[in-house]
Amino acid sequence: MALPGKEAMIAEVVSIAVECIDCGRNRWWKPAELKRFGVTAQTPLAALSGRLRCSACRADGLPGAAISIQAAFIDEQQQRRAEARMLGEREIPLERSRRA
Ligand SMILES: [Zn+2]
Repeated sequence: MALPGKEAMIAEVVSIAVECIDCGRNRWWKPAELKRFGVTAQTPLAALSGRLRCSACRADGLPGAAISIQAAFIDEQQQRRAEARMLGEREIPLERSRRA
């Protein structure tokens, strides 16, 4: 994701698409839903993929760390919503890196 000038933060996005590259599961998350993964408004987008793990892959004994992030910025909300509707319905289950 090319972000010239400054680093984008969670505060600037309306939703975040999280895709597991290993198993293909994906889901759009609202920033508020990611709070339980330690994500706040000040979290840089670039740090997201390091915080999230795919629990489906972990259940299979894989790291589940090949996470791809796509952010829907507030300015692009309408366009990205249309894109989100085109995504599949399989949801990616997420968990903290450390099990509770
Ligand atoms: Zn996965």
